[in-house]
Amino acid sequence: MIFTGLDIADIRFPTSRELDGSDAMNPDPDYSAAYVLIRTDAGDGHEGHGFAFTIGRGNDVQAAAIASLRPYLVGRSVEAVLADLGGFWRELVHDSQLRWLGPEKGVMHMAIAAVVNALWDLRAKRAGLPLWRLLARMSPEELVDLVDFRYLSDALTRDEALQILRDARPGWAEREEHLLSEGFPAYTTSPGWLGYDDEKLRRLCKEALADGFTQIKLKVGADLADDIRRMGIARQTCGPDIRIAVDANQRWDVPQAISWVRELAPFDPYWIEEPTSPDDVVGHATIARELAPVRIATGEHVANRVVFKQLLQLDAISYVQIDASRVAGVNENIAILLLAAKFGVPVCPHAGGVGLCELVQHLSMFDYVAVSGSMQDRVIEYVDHLHEHFVDPVVIRKGRYVAPTAPGFSATMRPETLTEYAYPDGPVWAAPATAEAGATANGATTPPTGAPGVETPPAEVAVP
Ligand SMILES: [Mg+2]
Repeated sequence: MIFTGLDIADIRFPTSRELDGSDAMNPDPDYSAAYVLIRTDAGDGHEGHGFAFTIGRGNDVQAAAIASLRPYLVGRSVEAVLADLGGFWRELVHDSQLRWLGPEKGVMHMAIAAVVNALWDLRAKRAGLPLWRLLARMSPEELVDLVDFRYLSDALTRDEALQILRDARPGWAEREEHLLSEGFPAYTTSPGWLGYDDEKLRRLCKEALADGFTQIKLKVGADLADDIRRMGIARQTCGPDIRIAVDANQRWDVPQAISWVRELAPFDPYWIEEPTSPDDVVGHATIARELAPVRIATGEHVANRVVFKQLLQLDAISYVQIDASRVAGVNENIAILLLAAKFGVPVCPHAGGVGLCELVQHLSMFDYVAVSGSMQDRVIEYVDHLHEHFVDPVVIRKGRYVAPTAPGFSATMRPETLTEYAYPDGPVWAAPATAEAGATANGATTPPTGAPGVETPPAEVAVP
């Protein structure tokens, strides 16, 4: 049996038309997936699906990066590759010519994530297990073989990782049962987008409480007076017992982060997320020290395990926010889960976008069963967008993720979505513009209106 194809699709959703997903740095995202579909000649009907998440322009660049990995897979033995996904990961990450484009960060690393995650999807489907369960049933030795310890051994050695996994063995079957009956805690970001007015914020806060959430998150960082007012509305609506996290999406310099969050402190923010550049490890440590006991969270734009290692070594974060498709897929996220366990820091994944909830739930559930063994202070982000496009969408019940039971990584999009939202020729993008949000049919390649130094082209100009 060999791999016969690696197909790529540029899938974009016109989310900017409703300001869904709007924050201080990303005012008009069009949630997108550079989507991968891996085929074999096994004749068992199984395909591997995966994707890199982007927010519109550049999704074609991401797709091109994925295409550069095609020669690594097509024609290779399915059994050999799936049996050694640690070795295959190293082949991709250590390609010396492609590595030059990073190293181990950005578009090329995200491309590897898409392919590696699609292979995990295929492996789990062939095993007849949801990914979290497949991983939880692997031995500690098999799991550490998936991890590249290069650059980690000053903080976490292979032997320490093995010990963490062995220590987590007792009770795993009970935790699996607990997960299946109770699910995993979630929090919701749906009320908090920056583009929503006060009335919508108030209504969505009430809905979140009615749905059973005990934590919500608000986007902040564009205007201090607005943030104080919106935090006040959220706190008044939710009461004192609901955790309200805030997220600045990298908007601030270090001193500004400190002064801004001090202004919000009277409203008891639970954590402050992405206060500054994700590369600024020392800056995060400074902010954490100055703002304690307010907790710092980051990770959705942390490029790789090496940056996570430094954030943990410097006590710069209280929560590790893994993302399923920014670092190089399942393998690198296992490394990060192990690092977090070593430092005793809870993992609270980033999700939302399109499909990120579907993917990352598996990693948190694996963490609970086989790595940290705990749900204490652990929550998975939930955003109520675009789940209808997936064959096996997430299910939220009483503010918790229901453990998926369908085989695979929950990554498979519905076939009609892959047709309708194909960019730029699918019917959603080829349709006439909707006037109210100022969007155009070619919105995703039109530079943002009014952005500094960007000339806004007339709407009728076709963008190549
Ligand atoms: Mg965030």
